[in-house]
Amino acid sequence: MKNISLVIILLTFILSGCNTNIKKTEEINLYSQRHYNVDKKQYENFEKKTGIKINVVKAGADELIERLKNEGDNSPADLFITVDAGKLQKGSELGLFQKINLESVNSNIDPELKDPSGFWVPITYRSRIIVYSNERINKDELSTYEDLSSEKWKGKILVRSSSNAYNQALMSSIIANKGSEFALDWSKKIVKNFARDPKGNDRDQVKAIASGQGDIAIVNSYYIGLLLSSDKEEELKAGKAVSVFFPNQGINESGSHINISGIGLTKNAPNKENALKLIEYLTSIEAQKLYVNTSYEYPANPNVMPNEIVKKWGLFKKDTLDLNSLGVYRNEAIKTFDISGWK
Ligand code: FE
Repeated sequence: MKNISLVIILLTFILSGCNTNIKKTEEINLYSQRHYNVDKKQYENFEKKTGIKINVVKAGADELIERLKNEGDNSPADLFITVDAGKLQKGSELGLFQKINLESVNSNIDPELKDPSGFWVPITYRSRIIVYSNERINKDELSTYEDLSSEKWKGKILVRSSSNAYNQALMSSIIANKGSEFALDWSKKIVKNFARDPKGNDRDQVKAIASGQGDIAIVNSYYIGLLLSSDKEEELKAGKAVSVFFPNQGINESGSHINISGIGLTKNAPNKENALKLIEYLTSIEAQKLYVNTSYEYPANPNVMPNEIVKKWGLFKKDTLDLNSLGVYRNEAIKTFDISGWK
C-alpha cells in the first residue's frame, strides 16, 4: 500500500512536470495578404490586451493558399486574411477552412456581408468605384460600369492591369450579374476606351487624372481616403483633383461592386481558441474604428461609422451578389480579360 501511494505521488509529480513543459506559449499564426499599415497596429493592440502573440506571414493570396494546401493537416497556420472574397471562396472550396459560428462574431457583422456558407468572416469592405476629373467631367455624364463601354469615353478611361485581383473580382461580378457574353463585349469596348495601356496601381490612376492623362478611373474607394489624408503633396493633389462616383445606383441596377477583406479559420488551427478571440477582436467596435480611420475602408460592423472623409461621399447601394461568386467566376474573368486584350 505504501508502495502504491509512493508510485501515485511520483506519477502525479512527473505528470504535472510534463504539463508545464508542454504548455505552449499563447500565440496565433496568421497568413496575411493585406498590405496596409493599420494591420500591424491592430495586432499590437490585441497582443497588449490579451498577451497572445501574433506571428504574421505575409505573401500574395494565391501563394498563401498554395502553402496551406501543401502544408495540409500539419499547417501551423490558424488564420488566413485576404482582401478578396474570391480567394476565401477558393480556400473554402479546397477544404482549407472550418466554419466559424460564434455568436459574439455574428452579432458584430452586417448580415449583408456575411458568407452564406459560413467559412469566412468579413472584417472591412470597399467599393470599386469610378473617380472623375473635377475639371473635365461633369458628374451627370456618369452612370454605370456598363456605360463605360460607350464610345463617349474613348481615350478617357484609366485602370490598372487585369492581373490585379481587384479587377478580376469586378469582372467576376459583371459575369455573375450580366452573363459571359455581355462581359466579353463590355471588356473589348472598355479596352478601346483606355487612355493608355494599363499600368501602375490604383493610386497611379488617380495621379494620371491629375496630370491630365485621362479623365476617369476605376479604383478602390479607400485609396481616395488615403490620398486625401496623405502628407505627400503629389498624393494630396491627386486626391483633390477627383470626385467619387458610385456606379449602378439606379432602381433596376445592381449597386456598386464591393469586395471584403476577410478572414478564414484553418481546418486544423492549432490555436483555435486564440484565433477566434482575434476574429472577435478585429470585428469589435474598437478595432473597426481603427480600420476606418487608418485605412479608410468601410466597417463590417454596422455599429461603426466610416471615417469623416468617406462619410462625405454619402451612402450608396451595394451590389448584393453572393461574394463567393467573385471566386467562382475568377478563371472566366481572367479568360475574358485575355480574349479582350485587357493587358
Ligand atoms: Fe489595396
